[in-house]
This record gives sequence, C-alpha cells and structure tokens, in this order.
Amino acid sequence: MTMSEPSVSTRAGQERLKERGVIPLPEPDEVSAPYWDAAQNEELHLQHCSACDTIRHPPSPDCPECGDSSSDWRRVSGKGTVYSFIVDHRLMVPGFDEPYVVAQINPVEATRDTVRIVANIKGCDTSEVFIGMPVEVYFEVRAGMTIPQFKQDTES
Ligand code: ZN
Repeated sequence: MTMSEPSVSTRAGQERLKERGVIPLPEPDEVSAPYWDAAQNEELHLQHCSACDTIRHPPSPDCPECGDSSSDWRRVSGKGTVYSFIVDHRLMVPGFDEPYVVAQINPVEATRDTVRIVANIKGCDTSEVFIGMPVEVYFEVRAGMTIPQFKQDTES
C-alpha cells in the first residue's frame, strides 16, 4: 500500500512540492517565443503592430486595436507602472515563498492601459507595492530560464 499524495490545493501538498523544488516555468508558444527569447539576453521586447504603430501584450496573432496581423518586436525600456496587483499569502503556486506579489505592469511605451505584463514585484516589502508605483524590469534566472521580473524604480 502506498501513501497518497496530498492535493496541491492544500497547504501540505504545496509544501511537498516546494520541498521537491517544483517551480512553475513559462511555456513559450509560437506567438510568445520572441518575448522569452529576448529575455534570455536580458532584454525586454514587446510585440508591435506594423499597421497602427501600437505595442501590445500579451502577444497575439492579430492586433486587438486594428485587427491587422502584421507585427514586429521592439525593445522597450523596461520601465512601467503597476496597473494592479495581488499579494499571495496562501502559497497558491508551489515553489514560491509567500507572501509574494503578482502584478500587472503597464509599460511606459504603451498607449493603452490594456497592455499589461504579468510578473512578480520583488526587492521591497509586499506592503510597499501600490497601484501606479513606478517599476523597472530586472531578470531572474529560474531553472535555466531567464524571466522578466520587476522592482521599484527609485529614479522615477
Ligand atoms: Zn494594430
């Protein structure tokens, strides 16, 4: 008889995964691959519509603004502001040390607030994060994959 594994939706299950070093990693697809490829070189690139000259994120085959499917990728500054965020105190994703912040970042190059990068905000206490907070990108290596993350931009 084998002992059954605790469900990952329980604290015990999450702790078990954490002990094993299980951490979530992004899974690039055909559309999002340039974002992750650029991150490997510690650069932040966003998809740009060739037709209406707007930046969009998350990446998509067609422009949500004008519907055109022609696009290229542009390097951006990595600066932005916090559009919204949550603080997870319940270890909802294994491999992270709670509490942690999951935020939507609106890049400064974006002309609309629907352009949002989902990332963690680190380097400060979770209670210091606020909507509208200036942030800048930095790069974190997780299991060999380089991931854009954000921290408070103290120069803005
Ligand atoms: Zn467009």
